[in-house]
Order: sequence, then C-alpha cells, then structure tokens
Amino acid sequence: MMMKKIRTNLFLLMTTAVTSTAASQPRIHFEVSFKEPQAHYVEIKMEIENLQRDFIDVKMPVWTPGSYLVREYAKNVESLEAFDGKDTPLATEKINKNTWRIASKKNRTLTVQYRVYGFEVSVRTNFIDDSHAFLSPAGTFLFVDGFLELPAEVTILPHASWSKISTGLEPVAGKPGTYQAADFDILFDSPIEVGNQDVFTFEAAGVLHEIAMVGGGNYDKERLTKDCIAIVEEATAIFGVNPNKRYVFIVHNYQSGGGGLEHLNSTVLGASRNGYQNERSYVGFLGLVAHEYFHLWHVKRLRPLELGPFDYDAENYTTALWIMEGFTAYFDNLLLRRCGFLTETSYLQALSSDINTIENRPGNQVQSAASASFDAWIKYYRPDENSANTSISYYNKGALLAMMLDLKLLAGTNGEKRLDDVLKAAYETFYVQKKRGFEELELQTLIEQVTGISVADIFDAAHTTGSLDYNRYLNAVGYEVIDYNDGRELPDLGISTSVSDGRVLVTGVGRGTAAWDSGINVRDEIIAINGERLDAHGKELNRVLQTAAIGDVLHVLIARDGKIQQLRVTLLKDTRGSFGIIPLADATVEQQRLGKIWLSQE
Ligand SMILES: [Zn+2]
Repeated sequence: MMMKKIRTNLFLLMTTAVTSTAASQPRIHFEVSFKEPQAHYVEIKMEIENLQRDFIDVKMPVWTPGSYLVREYAKNVESLEAFDGKDTPLATEKINKNTWRIASKKNRTLTVQYRVYGFEVSVRTNFIDDSHAFLSPAGTFLFVDGFLELPAEVTILPHASWSKISTGLEPVAGKPGTYQAADFDILFDSPIEVGNQDVFTFEAAGVLHEIAMVGGGNYDKERLTKDCIAIVEEATAIFGVNPNKRYVFIVHNYQSGGGGLEHLNSTVLGASRNGYQNERSYVGFLGLVAHEYFHLWHVKRLRPLELGPFDYDAENYTTALWIMEGFTAYFDNLLLRRCGFLTETSYLQALSSDINTIENRPGNQVQSAASASFDAWIKYYRPDENSANTSISYYNKGALLAMMLDLKLLAGTNGEKRLDDVLKAAYETFYVQKKRGFEELELQTLIEQVTGISVADIFDAAHTTGSLDYNRYLNAVGYEVIDYNDGRELPDLGISTSVSDGRVLVTGVGRGTAAWDSGINVRDEIIAINGERLDAHGKELNRVLQTAAIGDVLHVLIARDGKIQQLRVTLLKDTRGSFGIIPLADATVEQQRLGKIWLSQE
C-alpha cells in the first residue's frame, strides 16, 4: 500500500504544481500502427503533454501481472527517439535495461517513437504477422516513471488488410479505434487483438461478453456460447456480483495450444484449432474458460497485498499463489461439475490426478505450497531437469488445500457453509470495503469468523512440506483416497527418457531411486542394458524392467559427453502410488448428504 500512496502524492503534487485547469492536465496518448507486420513489428508513437520537467524517464515493464517471470520486454524495443513539440530531436539515454532518460527540457509536448518486435507465441507476449497482431500491453507501452496513475489513451491504426480490434479497454465515443484507460495499471491489464478475428457476443450475469476467435477453428458458436453463459452464471453466483459491464475473451487458436492469462475485464486463451469437436479437449477448453473467468474476482480484485499496486521493475513476491492459483484451479473443475460438463466420476478423476502429481513428486518433500508461490519467479516459471526433485506446483497443491478447506467447512457447518461463502465474504471485505489486498493471516481469520471453524491446520499445511492427510477431510463427506499400488512390489529404475535420433536419452532422475543412487545422469544416452542393445524406441528398457525383481543388478551401458561407461544399478522398489478417490464403503447418511452438497450439479 505504501507504493500506492507515493504514486498518488506524486500525481497530486504534479497536478497542483503545473496548473489547476483541466486543459493542462498531463496527458499521454499512444498511436499504434503497423508498417511491417510481416516482419513482426509494431510502431508506437507516445505523446506526452503537460509534464514540464528537465528530463523524464520512460520505462517498459519487465513482467506482466499474472505471469510470474521477469520477461525483459524491453529487449524487443528498438529505434527509440524523442522529439519536442516542434519535431526537434531530444537527447535520449538508456540508463538501465528498461529505462530511457529523455532530456525533455521542460517542453510542454513531447513525442517518443519506438518499434517493438513481437514473434513469440504465448498469451503474454506480442505476436505480429501479416494476418494479425496480438499486443500484450506490458510489452508494448512505455510508462513515465512515477506517473502510473495517469490516464492513457490509445489509438490503433490497423494494417490495411485488418478490420477488427478486440480489447477490454474502453472505447472513446466518437473516435473509432481509440480507447482509454483510467491509469497504467488498467492499460497494462488490457491486451489488444487486431486483425480479422471472428467476433460474437452474448449476455450473461448482466454483462456483455465478446468472444474474439483468432486463427479459425472447428468451434460450434451456439454450443460454446451456451456453455460460456453457464460458466459465467455459475462463477458469478459464487461472488454474488459481477463487477464488469463488458468482458472480452481473446482466443488464440493454434495447431495445438493451451494456457491462458487473466485480466480485469478480459482474458487471453490458447486453444487447439481443431480440438473443439473432441469432447475431452472441448471440456478442457471450458475448464480454461472457467479458470480465467474465476480470476476476474480471485486475483484481479480479491488479492494478496503484494499483488497490486504492482512494481513493474522487478519481481513482486508473494507466498499466496497457492490461494490465488490453487483455489482457482480447484474452482475451475468444480464449476464444470456444477454446470454438468463433468460427471461426478470424471470430476473425482481430475482431483485424483492432482493427488498423483503431488504425492509422486519428490519435490513435495522439499518445497511447501507457500514457498513454491514465493519462488515462482525462479522455479515454477524456470523449470529444469531437477525441478521434480526440488519443487511442486502451487496449482496442484493449492487446489488440494482448497479441497480440504471446502470439505472441512462443509463438514464443520453441517453443510451450511463452504469455500464459496468465505470467498464471497473476503471479496466484500477486502476488495469492496477495505479497497486493498489481504494478508494471509487476515484471510484465515476472516474464514474462521465467517464459519466458526478453525482452519489453521490447512494454512499450516500450505507452509509445510510433505503429504497431505486427504482422508481426514474426504471421509467427512463420504469419500476416501485409496492407493491402488498399495502392497505392490515392483522394481523401478527411476528415470524418465526421451528418444531423439533413435537414441534413448535420460531426461529426469528421481530423487532416492536406483538411478539416483547409482549415478545415472540427465543427458546420459542409454545404449544397452545387461548386454542387450536398446531399440530405437527404448522398448527394451521396459522389457528388462518388466521381467526384473527388486534387488536385481543391471549393467547399464551409457554414453556421457561422448564417453562410454558401464554403470551397475541395483533396482529398488517403486514407491510411487496410484491414487483414486472413491465413495467410502461405510459412509453414514450424514456423510453422504454432505458429499452430495459438495459435488452437486446445480
Ligand atoms: Zn490462474
């Protein structure tokens, strides 16, 4: 909150110092055009008025909120030049990786021109080609250091062959192609799609929704619209209010794609162009819609203190991504269940899959959900060959903690209250009333006040490594987790492999496995086992393992950095579980009643 105060004060100082008339309020206007879209460039002209200073610093954010990685967007900026109101060049100097100092010499008007290269396919990076442009605003628009509170206007001049603009930015009446943002936080939270996208609209929860389909696809507009309406209505029912007037889905359809990024009143989704007619892939897409839509409340508005106002210059650390992403990952499938897009069985399978991922990952013994959140910048977003041994995903573990929380509240209140109720109360308390983010302990306290149930066990578990006691919570609503591998005695080598040019290469070595103990390395090529050469698909490896026993010694011939070596590997027991969630055999009527409330289709 301190940062917000500083910004506000600067703005006040500046506005009173210059003059009090509206005509000389500082004003920033961007013009966006495309001279060479085929070469992946966008041209930006930034006009700054009424900021009369000796010099100003303009900056490009290093990251975009929602995607916790320093992406160094400034690397794509080139040919930056500045001019005064008479088009006389002004001296500019790069003073650090993302800041340009302009000798503005108290000029009332100055223009900064630059080009940005964009050819990275993702929901949070610019992509420009001859067919369309996707602009991730944090990687496109410079801001004036110290003036994030200023409003911004953007005029988009599409390339001659393009006809449509899709963005959550507010259109300026009477100026086609011109949009406004009340401040730079909103500008940086409003991606822009320009091209010939297929746009269709629907109304749900009193909000006009626009779907902009980019790149074609075999989607059924009628079905998709109907299903999105159901998701919007169900998500809105949780919070009781939908804060937007208009919401935009920008959907990038690729040969194969996925992923999404949430924004205040829009989202960008990646999808497989021809996946809409495949039931599994279609339901997966609806899960992405539900996930990003849920975020418009949970993270974009109800959020931890550390996540807004943002520092665009560096990492913004929070231990609470297990709450923000984990709860969202829990609710995305739950929303699909409530809408009837998932059967009870398929819902439980999806939840079991999170349990399998977490419980079979050695990193679960090393990293807690809270520290996974904090280190997202250097671990989750920068995985390497050892990630599975040393880290977990706050999505999976956070979703399981959310499940435990939901079930504990349901059981403790005889089905009267659940996670929905506390999120609604938290939204009202922190976003609407206090107008600020929450501290983790404040959220825990609020949950306890709203429900009368202590949830310290779950918040503690988020800060602790190791297995979660799922059955303590699932039993209360008539379900249990079972391990189908329980009692199974099978040998395991402990590696993952990939085949490249007919060579079997080690891609991962599991902590505490036979391979770990005997010194098999990632990037080793496995040539032969027990004197038998591996075939091009590595099937021989499976055959050997299927016929071996725990304690058997394998002679593994490898090539490492061009040198042949023989390793002796003593096979150990495969300790991985195969977990499933099933109805509790002797569940009481009350447990069954609570279970029905948990998974009811509304
Ligand atoms: Zn998310």
